[in-house]
Amino acid sequence: MISAISRPYIAASVPVLREHGVAISRCFYQRLFAAHPELKNMFNMPNQQAGTQQQALAAAIFAYAANIDNPEALAPVISRIVQKHVSLGISEAHYPIVGKHLLDAIAEILGAAATPELLAAWAEAYGLLAAALVSEERKQYQAHGIAPGEYLSVTVARKQKESDSVTSFYLRATDGSLLPAFQPGQYISVAVDIEQLALRQLRQYSLSDAPDRGHWRISVKREPENIAADGPYPAGLVSNLLHDACHEGDVLQVSPPCGDFVLAQEDRRPLVLISAGVGVTPMMSMLHGSLQQSPQRPVNFLYAALNGRHHPLKGELNSLRRRHGQIRSHIAYEKPGADDLPQKDYQQQGYLQLAQLPDALLPHDGSYFLCGPAPFMQVQRDALLARGVAAHQIRQEVFGPSLLQHLQ
Ligand code: FAD
Repeated sequence: MISAISRPYIAASVPVLREHGVAISRCFYQRLFAAHPELKNMFNMPNQQAGTQQQALAAAIFAYAANIDNPEALAPVISRIVQKHVSLGISEAHYPIVGKHLLDAIAEILGAAATPELLAAWAEAYGLLAAALVSEERKQYQAHGIAPGEYLSVTVARKQKESDSVTSFYLRATDGSLLPAFQPGQYISVAVDIEQLALRQLRQYSLSDAPDRGHWRISVKREPENIAADGPYPAGLVSNLLHDACHEGDVLQVSPPCGDFVLAQEDRRPLVLISAGVGVTPMMSMLHGSLQQSPQRPVNFLYAALNGRHHPLKGELNSLRRRHGQIRSHIAYEKPGADDLPQKDYQQQGYLQLAQLPDALLPHDGSYFLCGPAPFMQVQRDALLARGVAAHQIRQEVFGPSLLQHLQ
């Protein structure tokens, strides 16, 4: 718990951080990478260039300060950070380095306003957060039986095209042993060397198959060139490399399964899985997992895609539906293709509109999981809240750097 001396300084920092948070985090990363260029391997460098990582860190610092006396609000967020850190191989030794450059950045950006008392308060607050993270991360590494930064070698046993833009990679242990079961909804980090940047980059991919088959499957969307107003930006580094240069028989370095966006064992409420695009990946794993864990539990599978050509794992969903009567599905195609049959292939044309759906698909007592692009999740979350679903019934997975933002 933060000391009585430091508490008012942290509280007083909240409006200052709101104003200067992005500048502080930009300065922090510049200082960090200048002093420790090797740490670029741990960060998503396109997110650095796009500024999204800086915004995420600023939001995190701000949310931490605003909630420092609210451990209940911080606990789930800390749990999520721990999972991400373990997948990235963050070690105890990284914390003093990050702490030093964070405090230096606060001092540089706030100038005279960064009094010794304020800096001491932030040093204490950071120390508390670091201690909590280190302790939890240590337990996770022990449970996985690996050291921080150690990766597992897996062989690409099969590569399977799932849609125009998504390809699955079936991974097996290089020594032929069975890969451990995971919790449906978890992800692994994949470490890839990017020659043109002389960097190793890590990306997270949700495990998309049933949890206990002895292999892992990731389903990766090829990230195209981004023709933004201020772009264009290059095509995604890792996803394109996996699609183009990773073949059956190749060996990949991956983290153990991480993440807390998972089915709770004891939860028997109707399960409602709502996703869009490649956000379908953790949902397919949850669908398999739920059918195995609680065969009677109703599952509603709601999904939005551009059309049938961009609908990964469609055959697998249909096959499960035919075999398990408790699955209800509802598919929305934004622009159906000529081959897509209304009612059979999709039930809604245009965006997925939850307001139009019956209670049978969106039960009041359901357990809701959302995954997809950020605007999609915001719209669906708002629609669920408007229908009377409580916030605590809804869980979300973000495929990008947005930790802590929802605490603001
Ligand atoms: P990057 O090189 O990281 O680029 C990403 C985008 O940024 C591209 O569109 C690029 O054009 C753009 N860009 C590059 N530079 C700039 C710049 N300077 N300014 C603005 N934009 C720029 N993905 C999946 O496909 N399947 C999954 O199952 C999956 N699960 C995930 C689970 C989790 C928990 C998380 C966090 C992410 C998941 N992702 C998943 C996303 C995945 O981790 C990668 O982010 C994704 O594959 C893109 O990585 P990349 O290296 O190909 O693209």
